[in-house]
Amino acid sequence: MKYDVIVVGGRVSGSVSSLFASKNDVDVLMVEKQQEIGVPVQCAGGVSDSFFKTMDLKPLQEYYSRIEGATLHAPDGGQVSTRNKISHGYILERKLFDKNLAIQSAEAGTDIMLKTPVKDLIMENGQVKGVVVRHQGKLMEISADVVIAADGVESQVAKMAGLNTHFEPYDLCSCAQYEMVGLDIDPAMIEFYFGQKIAPGGYVWVFPKGNTRANVGIGIRNIPNGSNKNNGNTQNTGNNGNNGYDKSKNAHHYLQKFISKLGGTPVEFNVGAVPVSGPVEKTYTDGLLVVGDAAGQVDPLTGGGIHVSASCAKIAGTIAAEAVKKEDSSAKFLKKYEDIWNKKKKIGHNLKRSLKYRRMFDKLDDQEISDLIKVVQGQELESVSKLTLLKMTKEYPQLFKLLRNIL
Ligand SMILES: Cc1cc2nc3c(=O)[nH]c(=O)nc-3n(C[C@H](O)[C@H](O)[C@H](O)COP(=O)(O)OP(=O)(O)OC[C@H]3O[C@@H](n4cnc5c(N)ncnc54)[C@H](O)[C@@H]3O)c2cc1C
Repeated sequence: MKYDVIVVGGRVSGSVSSLFASKNDVDVLMVEKQQEIGVPVQCAGGVSDSFFKTMDLKPLQEYYSRIEGATLHAPDGGQVSTRNKISHGYILERKLFDKNLAIQSAEAGTDIMLKTPVKDLIMENGQVKGVVVRHQGKLMEISADVVIAADGVESQVAKMAGLNTHFEPYDLCSCAQYEMVGLDIDPAMIEFYFGQKIAPGGYVWVFPKGNTRANVGIGIRNIPNGSNKNNGNTQNTGNNGNNGYDKSKNAHHYLQKFISKLGGTPVEFNVGAVPVSGPVEKTYTDGLLVVGDAAGQVDPLTGGGIHVSASCAKIAGTIAAEAVKKEDSSAKFLKKYEDIWNKKKKIGHNLKRSLKYRRMFDKLDDQEISDLIKVVQGQELESVSKLTLLKMTKEYPQLFKLLRNIL
């Protein structure tokens, strides 16, 4: 078998890559190891309005809930809300959204093979020339001019081609999530809860999917050099991180504690990991591109990866098709993909800036997070300029030290 482009992985990065390669009139195969696209869900599905605008996609009512605001909850119980446009967006039903993307890609001409894990790469003179898959119990070789690795945070495909896509454990946010019913929520507001006892190194989210239904999840991280000033965790020594993280307690433990106060009942549970290191060093090699979670294309501050992954995948699919047409799938040509997402589209710049903010946030203890939320309380979040923050540090001088990187 021979295709122009093979995409490994059939969720957001995979479907968008194959959609844009197919739209550019090349033969595309997408292989997915699961038997169904989008399952199991490993996502809360939150995207801002700008996502559909950037992707030039029309959101379909069958797979989203509309969001018109956000509330941040401080460790000391304080909170700040905004209903301004910057907080408007959607909670996607990922099972349906991902399948819909795959359908669009198939309609554009992509062939899809399900229950087909990639086991190895075909290599010739150091160049990727295709994949070895397990299909219906048998190993099978499929050749291609370009392979796109869209196989998520546990990606092996880019590593097989010699790219360093390893994430250190402290750069991985460990997540757990329930979809719950019977909750007392505002269906238009997403909520975030911070605090070392609630979610060390991360946060809890409540993302509504209807009047009483929501994704309630948590991401936690071990931060070796994080704050240790206020965690109240006397066992937090030795092997444990400095941010209240306790190796003996996983994300599920903290989530269970959080939902015990909520009422309601779960209808789905899932776990996953998000890379928050910023992108990997190199995202192309001879005959291969890497995209999405596999490439660390996730906002390091929020852990949001749908928008970034899809934006990079659109570029990957387009450049792969161009390489096929130019009969040049060398690293030299495929570098164009990285040049576009990293420099021209400034995605790399935005991820770097977000990483800087995340590192700053990592250093905050509970008191400082509470102070920060107090500072912006009663303000429209989007109107908080550098100047207002500077003025506010007069009232909370301890914040100046923390904010000096952005002021
Ligand atoms: C709990 C949780 C909540 C999140 N919430 C949000 C959110 O609200 N908003 C947001 O923007 N982002 C969120 N994210 C991040 C977001 O889900 C990811 O950034 C995004 O889904 C990345 O998509 P991807 O296609 O790159 O990778 P994935 O979604 O991981 O897809 C990879 C695909 O590749 C397949 N695959 C893997 N190996 C092989 C192989 N060898 N052969 C064939 N197929 C293979 C997998 O089965 C999978 O289908 C969340 C993540 C988690 C874990």
